[in-house]
Amino acid sequence: MKPQYQYHHTQKSRRRARQRRHFMIVSIGLVSVAAIVSAAIFIGGKLVPISQSETKPKPSPTVSADAGANSSDSSKEESQSTTSQKEPSNSSKEESSTSSEVQVSVDPNGPAYQKKYPDLYVTDRPKMHVLEPGDKTVYLTFDDGPSDLTAPLLDILKKYDAKVTFFDCRQSDYQGEYSSLMKRCVDEGHAVAVHTYSHVMKDVYASVDAYLDDFYKMYKLIEETTGKKPANFFRFPGGSANSYNTEVREDIIKEMTRRGFIYYDWDGDSGDASGGKVSGATIYANTMDAIRRDCDIILLHNVFGKENTLSQIENILKDAQAEGYTFEALDGTLDPTHGYLMTNKIFIPAAMESPLIQLSDWRMEKEGKSTDS
Ligand SMILES: [Zn+2]
Repeated sequence: MKPQYQYHHTQKSRRRARQRRHFMIVSIGLVSVAAIVSAAIFIGGKLVPISQSETKPKPSPTVSADAGANSSDSSKEESQSTTSQKEPSNSSKEESSTSSEVQVSVDPNGPAYQKKYPDLYVTDRPKMHVLEPGDKTVYLTFDDGPSDLTAPLLDILKKYDAKVTFFDCRQSDYQGEYSSLMKRCVDEGHAVAVHTYSHVMKDVYASVDAYLDDFYKMYKLIEETTGKKPANFFRFPGGSANSYNTEVREDIIKEMTRRGFIYYDWDGDSGDASGGKVSGATIYANTMDAIRRDCDIILLHNVFGKENTLSQIENILKDAQAEGYTFEALDGTLDPTHGYLMTNKIFIPAAMESPLIQLSDWRMEKEGKSTDS
């Protein structure tokens, strides 16, 4: 046992050493601050935010669009379908501006959720492009995975050198067993984006806070699992307009847009989510029909029980490739106009106000904004 005095002695010297350390740290800190301030005054005459650099000129806010129009109901899984509407384009894929680090602003008088998750921002978004009419690029999107059907799907995609987009979630512990597959998806060139963590619609859409909490959990799970930053876009569970989010949809879109995220619905639907077991033949027919109708973003599922979807992928890839179509993963540069047009009713005005989102020139012209930047 240690003698009492020695114990006190040790305690005292430790305390002194600690005090000395604190004094040193504080002194170094003060000297550094003084040095930085002097340098700043010397260089520019005034201090500027470190991250404020070249950004696109901020367009003036547009008149708020009618959020209620076109709102359709889908209490089930995403299963709505719209006809493809290609619109003329003046821009091309090559268009992209240098990514710019921008000052992320939090409105001091805005809602408190703006202060949540300061690492949940997309600040390096290149300018978006639109597809020319007749472009044969197809974006197959698979919702609700990963699952027992993910590995076999990846094998087929590899065989046909097709890239796709996964909008993933983690609905149960059972699904958690497959989370590691998200890394394989990314490693093999596919996009992995947030769909939702729980997919329990009434919880996810209870409020903007609830939405952000759920989103962030999935965002971090993807980041930790894949070792890469998750995609800079996402898909709403149930699509952007559903019966659960009518009250919060507009606020969620504004908040996610403020953070630099865009979202995609779809303009072609395999129909594999519409109630009951849909036959493989129907899924094949719906998907091929959507592809040939010039749809760009096609909704499919990769979750437990969707064996009929999986069973058709090989035929879809083979037949569509034979007709000249190519399958790519979304990379966040495709203007979300390619999808439900209703998404734009709220998204576009919000995006026009965001310094983080750079719309295509075509979109800007359509909105009557100057495109020289
Ligand atoms: Zn879903």
